[in-house]
Amino acid sequence: MSEASINDAVARRGLMLVLSSPSGAGKSTLARDLLAKDDAITLSVSVTTRPPREGEVDGRDYFFISQDKFAEMRDGGELLEWAEVFGNSYATPRAAVEEALSHGHDVLFDIDWQGTQQLASAMADDLVRVFILPPSATALSERLINRAQDSSAVVAKRMAEAAKEISHWPEYDYVIINDDLEVAKASLAAILAAERLKRKRRTGLVAFTRTLVDNL
Ligand code: ADP
Ligand code: 5GP
Repeated sequence: MSEASINDAVARRGLMLVLSSPSGAGKSTLARDLLAKDDAITLSVSVTTRPPREGEVDGRDYFFISQDKFAEMRDGGELLEWAEVFGNSYATPRAAVEEALSHGHDVLFDIDWQGTQQLASAMADDLVRVFILPPSATALSERLINRAQDSSAVVAKRMAEAAKEISHWPEYDYVIINDDLEVAKASLAAILAAERLKRKRRTGLVAFTRTLVDNL
């Protein structure tokens, strides 16, 4: 057995990997790459009260719900965290996350700093927080323009909001400055690999070491 597969064979609790960044820093690019390469991690699909954008699919990008349904889920304890972003409500449904973690599967979160703070209060031991920064203000602006997803007014609004988002970087465990994309991808993979080896998550080590010692 290779070193990786021996380690993977030892049971562990899953982890919660949070990626946050100012818009345009490359969070979605890094998240997509990780999800495509790594079968042991899945994306937490949030609920939101905002309407779907062109091309978004219900159940894949978000679960699009009404404000009444949102209130019902919140009051029924079905949400792990929630926040108001740009006038809409966003939240993480609890059940899917708890199910994944208890089966040793990791969950990736694309949520803002408000949600990250709530997860840090509720589930600190499972949480790994990564903040993505652009290498410079010029690069951030170029990326927002080159992405060609937003009007110039929206790009200007996102640039104006970037400083507020960036002010939350000290609340994260890791910070990746996304300059060379391949280096940033490798850094994210390295963080995940190390966090998966953390002793506190590895519930199977007691049995593994017992067998090991019994056979010495
Ligand atoms: P976010 O999800 O943080 O808003 P995106 O992942 O959509 O940002 O990235 C914004 C734009 O920048 C996209 O067009 C993406 O292809 C590009 N991009 C991402 N990372 C890099 C990088 N390291 N170098 C150059 N362009 C990048
Ligand atoms: P968008 O509407 O562009 O998809 O997302 C807007 C913002 O809401 C992004 O910063 C995104 O990270 C954040 N967001 C998306 N889902 C959630 C969620 O479940 N909880 C929190 N707290 N923020 C979220």
